[in-house]
Amino acid sequence: MRYISTRGKAPVLNFEEVVLTGLARDGGLYLPESWPQFSREDIEGLAGMSYAEAAAFLLQPFLGDSIDAADFRKMTEKAYAGFAHKAVVPVSQLGSNEFLMELYHGPTLAFKDVALQLLGLLYDHLLAREGKRVTIVGATSGDTGSAAIEACRGREAVDIFILHPKGRVSEVQRRQMTTVLDANVHNIAVEGDFDDCQAMVKAMFNDHEFRDSLAVSAVNSINWARVMAQIVYYFTVGVSLGAPSRSISFSVPSGNFGDVYAGYAASRMGLPIEQLIVATNRNDILSRFFNSGEYRKSGVDPTISPSMDIQVSSNFERFLADLYGRDGDAIADLMGKLDSEGGFSVNMSLLNEGIFAAGRCDEEETLATIRRTLDDSAKLVDPHTAVGLAVGESCRKNTDVPLVTLSTAHPAKFPDAVEKATGERPELPKHMADLFEREERLVDLPNDIGTIKSYIKERARILSAA
Ligand SMILES: *Cc1c(COP(=O)(O)O)cnc(C)c1O
Repeated sequence: MRYISTRGKAPVLNFEEVVLTGLARDGGLYLPESWPQFSREDIEGLAGMSYAEAAAFLLQPFLGDSIDAADFRKMTEKAYAGFAHKAVVPVSQLGSNEFLMELYHGPTLAFKDVALQLLGLLYDHLLAREGKRVTIVGATSGDTGSAAIEACRGREAVDIFILHPKGRVSEVQRRQMTTVLDANVHNIAVEGDFDDCQAMVKAMFNDHEFRDSLAVSAVNSINWARVMAQIVYYFTVGVSLGAPSRSISFSVPSGNFGDVYAGYAASRMGLPIEQLIVATNRNDILSRFFNSGEYRKSGVDPTISPSMDIQVSSNFERFLADLYGRDGDAIADLMGKLDSEGGFSVNMSLLNEGIFAAGRCDEEETLATIRRTLDDSAKLVDPHTAVGLAVGESCRKNTDVPLVTLSTAHPAKFPDAVEKATGERPELPKHMADLFEREERLVDLPNDIGTIKSYIKERARILSAA
């Protein structure tokens, strides 16, 4: 498989290069040159497979010659062995023809684990083979940092430094990061807010001397391997509910458009999807786009579903590229307009043919949905999942088609909102029940880029090795 940039001007890469590169040199994102095709029989054959087997089977065409099939099969086994549920991504039923896809059984209780657990192993495998190392630097307001740390802990070829704003992440979120005691994991509590942390990480990426000498890399959501790994659960869950003989609809709580784009990829690869519902909170750029054709930035408004509080969706460009038949110049033009004019419009006729629908859910409705789901189905859901449930219900066309809402986080990750909605405080699952007794390791540093850079330079193993 070869990978091309959405903007058409960057070199064509293979899988290995695309995993290690991230953003394309022309500012675009990498995409597979074509979508692998799975026949009815292929899809039916998934029924007897474990999740790890299905992942190896479905993702093989994306790897090309970059990774040996037997090695990759071992990686999928290892990536999903640490999940708390043997099914990895189990399905529960909420009502007649309404289901929940439970994506939160990984080590940090959110769906990002499904992709990042595999990405961590891919990094290690590819870097070790090349005799290379990387230093991962990131800023987090809570969720992404812990998933990235869990994915990188103990990996030979990787050192990871995560900056979080001191005292401004929840105690569960902080402990999920700081109780990971592996030597290659470094938590830095910054005397500042999230924007300060983010600005310092940006500055480190723009300091080319620093960046090159430490081989600084990011594990953000634009990495192709993350999107790729998310394709798998659409297929496995679809098959468990009757695909390919039946079509399935999915409702996806969305922010950066990575998760729902993976569903779109699954449909292009042969899974019969009736509707893909893009669910947003009141930060609704995506919902506005699918309903009006206009993609326009606005400010970010904090909500009780913080992992979907975004201004623009970083993976959206991949979908535009498909919409425009991979016309790189057209995409470069649209993204230029987003920068210079704050937005752009596409012809609604392009969208009306597609499987997408979209809607938004405000804070009151999110809380009411958490409450109603507990009352009607005896299930506690987190606020992100509740957004998916509410919008799924309002956008659903055909109740004969099973509707699967992606449950992207465990309710115990957002206990305050869940308690506010229901009066019940969700408990951490058994494997994390001692989180509040575990030893923490972190360092407090001032909001000063020089100090933080020196701290990283002294500890990244890349320099001492060179
Ligand atoms: C990241 C995240 C989302 C949004 O997923 P995207 O791929 O960015 O659209 C939704 N819910 C939770 C809990 C998340 O952590």
